[in-house]
Amino acid sequence: MTQASQWDIGDDDHPHEECGVVGVWGSADAAALTALGLHALQHRGQEAAGIVSLAGQGGSQGQFHAHKGRGLVGDNFGDAAVIARLPGHAAVGHNRYATTGETALRNVQPLYADFEFGGFAVAHNGNLTNAHVLKRALVRRGCLFQSTTDSEVFIHLIAISLYSTVIDRLIDALKQVQGAYSLVALHNGALIGARDPLGVRPLVLGKLAAGGHVLASETCGLDIVGAEFVRDVEPGEIVMIDDAGVRSIRPFARPANPRFCIFEYIYFARPDSIVEGTPVYDTRKRIGAELARESGVEADVIVPVPDSGVPAAMGYATEAGIPFELGIIRNHYVGRTFIEPTDQIRNLGVKLKHSANRSMIEGKRVVLVDDSIVRGTTSRKIVEMVRQAGATEVHMRISSPPTTHSCFYGIDTPERAKLLAAQHDVAEMARIIGADSLAFISLDGLYRALGKPGRDAAAPSYCDACFTGDYAIPLTDAQDNSERPLPLLQVANR
Ligand code: SF4
Repeated sequence: MTQASQWDIGDDDHPHEECGVVGVWGSADAAALTALGLHALQHRGQEAAGIVSLAGQGGSQGQFHAHKGRGLVGDNFGDAAVIARLPGHAAVGHNRYATTGETALRNVQPLYADFEFGGFAVAHNGNLTNAHVLKRALVRRGCLFQSTTDSEVFIHLIAISLYSTVIDRLIDALKQVQGAYSLVALHNGALIGARDPLGVRPLVLGKLAAGGHVLASETCGLDIVGAEFVRDVEPGEIVMIDDAGVRSIRPFARPANPRFCIFEYIYFARPDSIVEGTPVYDTRKRIGAELARESGVEADVIVPVPDSGVPAAMGYATEAGIPFELGIIRNHYVGRTFIEPTDQIRNLGVKLKHSANRSMIEGKRVVLVDDSIVRGTTSRKIVEMVRQAGATEVHMRISSPPTTHSCFYGIDTPERAKLLAAQHDVAEMARIIGADSLAFISLDGLYRALGKPGRDAAAPSYCDACFTGDYAIPLTDAQDNSERPLPLLQVANR
């Protein structure tokens, strides 16, 4: 089957997360636990998965083992024989989301290198915003890059560092990179976790009942292995985990204003994860309730665009006092691509993934609740589908503010010119997607739903750059016109 014969039915109207990470220290089942954690984080990346394990403790005696492959975690690690080839008491793993089509095996993480201090594996969620500039300098110094992922910059910065210990070399590297990152790394002496100085990307620490610790992008990665949530790794913090326990290192000053990605609450995080002490599910319901207060409309039924719009739609329906119904059914068994036999079948479009539940829609005024509009293509098809199922009115309500800017911090969004909200006002957007009305939650309303009085423009509590253009971390590569980028380097963590 050629690429051209595949029909991409991915969710065009959503930004996409670009990776989940897991690390385990102190369990005889480290690789199996890591695979389970990655499975729970599958929503953060479906293109490829990898695990590196460490067997044998102390000094440079440890043996590293690796397995990586394209596809889902279950495709790669569902076989007990694969896990058996990843022995040891510690492991790190990675789920990868890629957009360019080149999910070459060389880009699948964790990345591994042998240094004079021994083996070192690293897995990274996020995006470095000065990777081009750093890579250019590193290549001039003779570094030979093996992949096209920005994460490899960490490996080379550690390799050329003049510091002697692993942790000092890592800190040296972290002080040179800009961008958003949560990373897990493994060397002979310890499992390491780190978050960028503003804490844009998430990372949590958990403890296993039988001893040992787990790092994961979200708490759902702890729950699946029965690990107790201990705490978030703090913005700018490094945690070193070994048999003696957890040690915290603070190479960066605590930020006055951390800038956690606000989109994690709206869409990326799994609803059963706990973020900042609150279940994401509850937060999404509060966002929906705020949306109903801001932009209520007379209607007969509230219908979520599944699955991500469900909690917000429930909050909206409760607040509005209008029945909530599953008026759209999602087919969970469709992957990102589907064999396309003819143009006629291609024109069926979104129905492969979503179909209208006619009995809940026909003759009714419908409010559709979704979490975001990026290009508008899927929204237009869904509105049309609901009309064809007999809705008398279709009103679209969105639980995020208009996405007017691209993300440079590890979330895959199209360039600005392709963002519907960057090109059109809300009335025009409503016309383009064919809705009777369209409304987005306001920025202040979103902050209120998160327990803040509103957005403090002088000191925002979150990264909200895709709604505001307020980029808290410099976009060095994007503003660098000094030379063409090196041919193999891509901007994102792909
Ligand atoms: S720009 Fe948007 S998606 Fe990207 S980190 Fe910031 S809030 Fe999240």
